[in-house]
Amino acid sequence: MPAHDPPVHLLVVDDDPLLRGMATRTLRHAGFEVSAVDSGEQALAAFSSARFGLVLLDVMMPGVDGYETCRRMRATPHGASLPILMLTGLNDTESIEQAYQAGATDFIAKPINWTLLAQRVRYALRAAAAAESAVRNRERLERAQRIARMGSWEIAADGERMSCSAELAAIFGAPARAATGLRPDAFVERINADDRPTVQAARQAAMREGTPYRLNFRIERFDGAERTVFEQAQPVLDAAGRQVAVEGITQDITERVEAERRISHLAHFDAVSGLPNRKFFIELAAPTLERAARLGSSCALLHVDIDRFKSVNDALGRNEGDRVLRLLAERLQASVRSADLASVGHGAETCIARVGANAFTLLLVEVGSDRQASLVAERLMAAISMPIVADGRELTLTASIGIAMYPRDASEPKALTHCAEQAAYAAKAAGRAQQRFFDEAMNASASMRLTRESELRRAIGDGQLRLYYQPKVDAASGRVVGAEALVRWQHPERGLVPPGEFIPLAEECGLIVPLTDWVLDTACADLRRRADAGLRTLPVSVNLASPSFLREGLHEQLDRLLQRHRLEPSCLTLEVTESLLMTDVPLAVQRLQQLRDRGFTLSLDDFGTGFSSLSYLKRFPIHELKIDRSFVTEAWRGERDGAIARSIIALGREFGLQVVAEGVETVSQAAFLAQYGCTCQQGYLFARPMPAQHFDTLLVRGSITVPGLLPKCEAPAVEAAGAPL
Ligand code: C2E
Ligand code: MG
Ligand code: MG
Repeated sequence: MPAHDPPVHLLVVDDDPLLRGMATRTLRHAGFEVSAVDSGEQALAAFSSARFGLVLLDVMMPGVDGYETCRRMRATPHGASLPILMLTGLNDTESIEQAYQAGATDFIAKPINWTLLAQRVRYALRAAAAAESAVRNRERLERAQRIARMGSWEIAADGERMSCSAELAAIFGAPARAATGLRPDAFVERINADDRPTVQAARQAAMREGTPYRLNFRIERFDGAERTVFEQAQPVLDAAGRQVAVEGITQDITERVEAERRISHLAHFDAVSGLPNRKFFIELAAPTLERAARLGSSCALLHVDIDRFKSVNDALGRNEGDRVLRLLAERLQASVRSADLASVGHGAETCIARVGANAFTLLLVEVGSDRQASLVAERLMAAISMPIVADGRELTLTASIGIAMYPRDASEPKALTHCAEQAAYAAKAAGRAQQRFFDEAMNASASMRLTRESELRRAIGDGQLRLYYQPKVDAASGRVVGAEALVRWQHPERGLVPPGEFIPLAEECGLIVPLTDWVLDTACADLRRRADAGLRTLPVSVNLASPSFLREGLHEQLDRLLQRHRLEPSCLTLEVTESLLMTDVPLAVQRLQQLRDRGFTLSLDDFGTGFSSLSYLKRFPIHELKIDRSFVTEAWRGERDGAIARSIIALGREFGLQVVAEGVETVSQAAFLAQYGCTCQQGYLFARPMPAQHFDTLLVRGSITVPGLLPKCEAPAVEAAGAPL
């Protein structure tokens, strides 16, 4: 026998000293560790203090006999599965019977065959180990089934008897004891009535022809809950290849199916409006267009782009913006008679989709003429322009609509969508709030946009950008008090391109961040150069677009920049617009405060054009307000805008802010503004934006004289502060 490590510890219990001694010696000789006792009492005492691998137990003993000893050992946790061999009289069937009843594993008849004793003991130990490992395996399998929510079952070939694991019962919400002695029908009844015929047909084919199957179906648990299960089954064959049963597994996949459904919904529908998204719309449109092709009819695809929706979103915040979008989606749906809409098997409403942040697409079937499509577009525009009350304000929105006709403009859903988008883009470019049909020329202008984008990308890297400076002047004294840095693009063929033509493009295609980085770096380099040349150094204002302003780590970036050029924060004024700040007011306040703490001057650009309410103004830790040019233009007449300009000046003063007027073009405007206390001005009246060298020359001169202006300006001069370097 192979050496046991440690040797198995046996307990020999017999009141006959001779037999006890023989057994002990024989078993020790066979390599076991043996303890021997002479009574049931001693055996139980030994049993409670030591662990044994097997007990050899005499039946007949005075006091507590072998049967009782066996029973008591079995009642202990350790004794429950311990092999206990009982020593009985030869052919004493009654005592053998009793021994089994008391829980004996097996018996050895006396007189004992000493040469076989060790073999019998080893065999009993092996059998016990096998039984224990079987129990462990079953437990492991049950645990695995529980974790996988997977039950297993077997139906006998007669189709009458079924056995299954406890987990199968759990999946069906049946008590665990239901796992035994079941008729397959008990579970079949729980299968959802719609799915039942399919499952039964598959099971019958498996029973009769041995055809395996894999199915998903719904069940109603015994407690009434609906679940979805996956079932896989195959025939069980005997050694002769005859089918004796069908075995299978059934797994509860409800959570997975639900997750898949959610994912699929997310992949196909827009979360805000609940409408199909672009991808799904294109899928839905395909069969509609195919049917139109068969019938020889034409369709219209309308791309509805809500004008200036970004500022609505910025001003109202995401949640309110989403609500407005939902409202618009409902209006679009309601305003198109369902007969106009393509019915594609998912209900008429699915042929309207949300295809962009502020854009919807509609597919209209059997549209006989352009005129018909155009009438629908008009109806949609009217629906959108009905006033909306949001956040206590009344908004009136407009839409630019592009129309593409099938099959005239394109035959594929994707291409058709693209045509409608280009037409909408053209409608926007032509001044918004209008409709346009697609035409071939638009293709050319779309490809032009792509060219511009790659050109601009190159321009930033290839040094085609120029930084111009427009002085800020104290109108009372003519003294230059600062400058705004304004970017231009020196295009190799188109000449000097103004920012209005490429900043929106840069914002759309993500180039605004590298562009702003270039502007900041160039402005700082110019400041350093001026300082080194001994020129008067005045603060320079730089315009920050939203991606740059909201960017993580902006102040660290600015710190590094200033360090590199050996400048102080006070030489930079950062201009942001109100709509930018309204995107996320708490974040904006936090960013502004960080920048203010570092010593930067903060300016609110184009003030009065956004949606911001004055109550927010108090929350923004800014230094300066720039009155938008539109209010300045009419200011001197003292009419409505004059009143607005005046109140902005008064408001700025109240909040202790510097107020700057931009776009000042005439002496009358300058005088009007100065009269109300706004002497810091910027505009063509004083100077147009100019290249850096020209601005350097102006700095040497120090001031700008405008004939006819100075005598009219009575307000006290604004201190022309030089930035410390
Ligand atoms: P803004 O920041 O409001 O700049 C003022 C604009 O008004 C400048 O136009 C300026 O040339 C123009 N302007 C100044 N005085 C007058 C005047 O008396 N009459 C008229 N009609 N216009 C005047 P510009 O340089 O074309 O820039 C337009 C806008 O482009 C700027 O408006 C700003 O929003 C943006 N922009 C310019 N440079 C940058 C830049 O480096 N980064 C970013 N993000 N935006 C920039
Ligand atoms: Mg500006
Ligand atoms: Mg401005």
